[in-house]
Amino acid sequence: MPNVASLLATVPEARRQQIAIGTLIVLAAIFPILIDRNDADVDSMANAAAYATLALGLNIVVGFAGLLDLGYAAFFAIGAYTYGILTAYQLQPPWNDFWAVFQTLGLATPVPADIGDGMVVHFTLSFWIGLPLAACIAAGCGVLFGAPTLRLRGDYLAIVTLGFGEIVPIVVRNWSDLTNGAAGLNGVAAPRLFGWSFGVNSVPYYYVAMLMVAALIFISIRLRDSRIGRAWMAIREDEIAAGAMGVDRTRFKLLAFAIGAAFGGMTGVFYVAKLQTATPEMFGFPVSVMILVMVVFGGIGSVWGVVLGAFILQLLQSWWLQDLTEWLHILGRAVGSTTLQKIDLIESIELIFGVILVLMMLFRRQGLIPAVRPQAALTFDQQHAEVRRGGFSGLNLQGLGGDKRTGEIALDIKGVTVRFGGLTALNKVDLQVPTGSVVAVIGPNGSGKSTLFNAITGLLDNTEGSIRFHGDEMRGLPPHTILKKGIARTFQNLRLFPNLTVMDNALIGQHARLTTGVFKAIARPPSTRREEKAARDWAMEVFAIFGNRLVPRVGQMVLGLSYANRRRIEIARALASRPRILLLDEPTAGMNPAESLELAEQIKSLNDLGLTVLLIEHKLDVVTRLADTVYVLDHGDIIASGKPDEVRQNEAVLTAYLGRNAQAAVAGVA
Ligand code: ADP
Ligand code: MG
Repeated sequence: MPNVASLLATVPEARRQQIAIGTLIVLAAIFPILIDRNDADVDSMANAAAYATLALGLNIVVGFAGLLDLGYAAFFAIGAYTYGILTAYQLQPPWNDFWAVFQTLGLATPVPADIGDGMVVHFTLSFWIGLPLAACIAAGCGVLFGAPTLRLRGDYLAIVTLGFGEIVPIVVRNWSDLTNGAAGLNGVAAPRLFGWSFGVNSVPYYYVAMLMVAALIFISIRLRDSRIGRAWMAIREDEIAAGAMGVDRTRFKLLAFAIGAAFGGMTGVFYVAKLQTATPEMFGFPVSVMILVMVVFGGIGSVWGVVLGAFILQLLQSWWLQDLTEWLHILGRAVGSTTLQKIDLIESIELIFGVILVLMMLFRRQGLIPAVRPQAALTFDQQHAEVRRGGFSGLNLQGLGGDKRTGEIALDIKGVTVRFGGLTALNKVDLQVPTGSVVAVIGPNGSGKSTLFNAITGLLDNTEGSIRFHGDEMRGLPPHTILKKGIARTFQNLRLFPNLTVMDNALIGQHARLTTGVFKAIARPPSTRREEKAARDWAMEVFAIFGNRLVPRVGQMVLGLSYANRRRIEIARALASRPRILLLDEPTAGMNPAESLELAEQIKSLNDLGLTVLLIEHKLDVVTRLADTVYVLDHGDIIASGKPDEVRQNEAVLTAYLGRNAQAAVAGVA
């Protein structure tokens, strides 16, 4: 018998995926026939699929963008009640001519009033319009709710979303005129297709739910592998770095919230149309937690994982727990234990979820299907494969600023002061960077060098003075706008996106230069494919600056790479954004002397191509080799500036660096 595994291994990965997906589609399509139209089982599957769509929505918020949302069921409720109210016999304003327009659109019909003999309005929103409508309304609520709260991070956001998740069912319960309160809406219309009503037959619901799951899987994957998904993941990995690399954080967080909410809203429509009723209990906190457990169980951020997680946990409830309970009762009767006979596992579902969650955290934290696959280290051959070693031609790097040495001032800093409470980190600093030059800032630890970079790149909100870049004022602009203007930076303590690949890091660097929006990310028209390809090509050009240090590792996760390589990636990420000026904060820190000089040469070559560089550096040999001008900071004051050799002789500099009495000693040595 041929070895199946080795046979499979010969099939290319992409083809294997196609086969797997094809098999899944066929299985899903024939499932109702396979199980001989067992209505209860088909119904359970339809419910499980509905939960899978919820899990996919929450996965965008929690998994992709890293925003912990504990009140996701609120959007489920908003969608459900949107459709419920517009089809049930709840809201019945008196009929008048105003409603005639809605009648022609098929959204309302006149019906005789229960009391009196006038006519009242009965809303008859079609299910198929209800789906997108509820998605839009839920997304709108997501934005409204997100706008004031998304500045919060982590625990705080979790608490606020928890509150929102509680508020929505409470409003629903108390706004009885609209929602019929705790009793719930009755007579929610079943979907109709070409005049035929789905009624209570679970098979058509099953197919609709499966189509929704398929569509949302597709949308999730397309978004994940696009400029949009990368921006979300950048925010998840390191919010500050994401902003500094050009991601508009508020906008993309709101987008994640809105799209997640839209998925939830659509599912709400489906769910109440299927049940033909809606009560506040269907959308409480336990539901939010259950969806979150599905996401964690399946694998946070993993599209197929959360779908699997949702199906398993939902079917566990409807299929297996019932059987398991019965077996326990039989066992109880056999051994004569009354406790066993009384156990009802379905009642203890929350306990069971809790246990599952604990077990997952202990034994498989990344979920059933992890979003990030473990990677093999590079083989010796891969590491030493001959790539253009340090030999970038420069021809292809013309996309970099390419400003020639015109002597024009690129960056003009005047009177910049930054105070942290009583500490003056920068005191009326004046500094100029001419176009095409390399300017170095040196100074003892704590003298305010990194603070200067933070002020230039918009990371501080307490900066005074003026920071002009090619004539435009930068002070007060948000970090992503400053990057877009052409100022890119690295951080002293690396701020990479550790759980993303080297390539993704460089692609995020290009975020501000790319244009793909949500619809293009999903539809992926030729223009988007071209843009992605060009972005990847450009990233490869940039990686080639570092010879074969990065090129063989583009597919590797940043997390596992050496410190020096991570430093290089950070520079590559900044360069990928096609900056007009590059700000490097101690780029050679943690590198050995050989590596430092290699990097100095590479920076020099970039400068020869016309890139303006502002550099913070401790290693004086690197500074002398590179810098045209050196500024010396001490306790927030510029104490000297000039050519590297002049500055080296400067008394004040020696005093600042080496202490009050060292000057004489140095003079003695010299
Ligand atoms: P360096 O020259 O070593 O890069 P920094 O610019 O990091 O120095 O720091 C300058 C001074 O400002 C230090 O005393 C530091 O403690 C203080 N400082 C920097 N950032 C902050 C902050 N966000 N809050 C309070 N103090 C800060
Ligand atoms: Mg510093």
